[in-house]
Amino acid sequence: MTATSEGERVPRADEGPFGSAQGGLLTKDEGSFAPTRFPRFAAGVVGSMPRPQFLRDLLDPRAEGTIPEHVYQKRLDAATQFVIAMQEAAGLDLISDGEWRRRSYIGVIAEVMHGFHSYVVDDELGTGRPFHTVVELMAPRRPGRIADEARFLVEHTDRLTKVCLPSPYLLGQRMWDPERSRKAYPTREAFMRALVPVLRRELEEVAKTGVTVAQFDDTHLCLFVDPAVRAKYDDPEREIDLAVGMLNDIVSGVGGVTIAVHLCRGNAGRLGWKGAGGYETLLPAMRRLDVQQYVLEYSIPVAGDMAVLRALPEDRLIGLGCVDVRGEQIDTVEQIVARAEEALRHVDAERLSLNPDCGFAPGSAAAIPIDEAYAKLQREAQAATILRERHSG
Ligand SMILES: [Zn+2]
Repeated sequence: MTATSEGERVPRADEGPFGSAQGGLLTKDEGSFAPTRFPRFAAGVVGSMPRPQFLRDLLDPRAEGTIPEHVYQKRLDAATQFVIAMQEAAGLDLISDGEWRRRSYIGVIAEVMHGFHSYVVDDELGTGRPFHTVVELMAPRRPGRIADEARFLVEHTDRLTKVCLPSPYLLGQRMWDPERSRKAYPTREAFMRALVPVLRRELEEVAKTGVTVAQFDDTHLCLFVDPAVRAKYDDPEREIDLAVGMLNDIVSGVGGVTIAVHLCRGNAGRLGWKGAGGYETLLPAMRRLDVQQYVLEYSIPVAGDMAVLRALPEDRLIGLGCVDVRGEQIDTVEQIVARAEEALRHVDAERLSLNPDCGFAPGSAAAIPIDEAYAKLQREAQAATILRERHSG
């Protein structure tokens, strides 16, 4: 056990005493995964936190090379320590580095590998939005880049920790362009498949850092819950199989870290979501995914019924999205508790963790005030306390 600055006591990933009686003890039949212990109703994040303007300026590719590398790194380190402290102060059990070293949750791949054209487009508000397109055959640029993020996080907190990796399917959807990418990768699928060994290597390095959770973000896979999205594809089931197969190729046999998948309907901040529909359509795929935790969203009105949670394998943990990230309203503690108690009608408490619906700022341009995110996370942590009191098992 570790005493924190707030005097609370939280478990580290590598120590007890949270067993099956009090929290989710995760085991795998073959024993290939180190068991990870979560406190019951662990309050966590999905990944990204809103970036202050100075950080956006720092990350802007147009500023690259304008300050010495060691100064750049020093400022990034300071910023990251700030966002770690903020999540601790909010009372969370499981925190991230806010993805504050990344231009976007997926753009990190362009730092791991050469081959991408990175650029920024100013939107109508003058906010720079980062984009990346694969234009050449990928070659190593900074392998282990994501593990470096994880290592810094683990070294600077006593809480449970999470680092996120983009899924190859999502990267393929976003970064392959029929004209500009074809010379390097003739098809979108060829590019996706080339990403599998790259991401597996990153994951293997991440697993050595002691980070608690490695989460793959597969937003595009989740969009297949929406009939309108499915209609755009000749064979949506084949797309789903492709996404699941590649992710399983990356994670199979990798131990020492809890593997999670985040499935949301796209996060356009104040503009809302990009797809609508319950998880039912995706259930067979979710069951096949070789992950230990599903990080889901249930605060938005288009996420469907929680009864679907009953159909997920009982040996998997559930990160319940129960805090809205997109709107400016701040959910009350009672609303958050009510969502978790609705989930408790379908799954046991020891499988349940709390999280917001999504990252607060998947891209560095997301215009969500950081203090709004802080307030929402405080409420989430307060809800977790109440839930532990009411459902101590
Ligand atoms: Zn999301």
